[in-house]
Amino acid sequence: MNGNWIALHTVPREGEKLVFKDQGIWRGPLDEFGINCMIPEDITAEIFVLPHDEGVLFRGRITGRVTLPCDRCGDVAQADIDHTFDDFEPYPAGAEIVLPTAAKDAGPQQRSAPRKGKKGTGGKGEETPAAGFTTDTDESVIRVAPFGRGIEINPATLAWEEFSLALPIKPLCREDCMGLCPVCGKNRNMENCACGTDRTGPCQAALSAFKAKK
Ligand SMILES: [Zn+2]
Ligand SMILES: [Zn+2]
Repeated sequence: MNGNWIALHTVPREGEKLVFKDQGIWRGPLDEFGINCMIPEDITAEIFVLPHDEGVLFRGRITGRVTLPCDRCGDVAQADIDHTFDDFEPYPAGAEIVLPTAAKDAGPQQRSAPRKGKKGTGGKGEETPAAGFTTDTDESVIRVAPFGRGIEINPATLAWEEFSLALPIKPLCREDCMGLCPVCGKNRNMENCACGTDRTGPCQAALSAFKAKK
């Protein structure tokens, strides 16, 4: 994703919405990290990028659909992704900031736009967006330009990071997935086995198996 760096001074002072539809943003790292996750419907990320005096505010939404192995039976589990996030990245320490100039007809500054998000809520009016956010700089998202002056940002990397957070930890093929029999390993959604015909849940079956060994 190294090709996705954007010079900050190309982003208008009043902010800009960027749309990411390149599936390589997700497929690349999924392959790289060996994550068993398929993308049957394209994932789209929309990120509003707003440069501030102290850093850059990213407000994004990621939508689409993924399939993962069911946590109980290993069958295909489908999950809709609809993930919103606010992220503020402070400028790297000592960086020379070249902010874009405000557009002539930009109208009122967007600084006071209502901010919803996981952090920084309940603030007191016109504070900087940095309040409530971590002050660590994520160098995979914001950096000093390698050549020349200014700052570069990488919203695509941020999109990947947020996408990975949005993946379900325990995906299920269906709410009432019966899972695999802990004794014989058969998929209990497909067939009954003789291991626990009079039992209902996997816990009881496991318990019976445990007792049987004693
Ligand atoms: Zn399942
Ligand atoms: Zn069984």
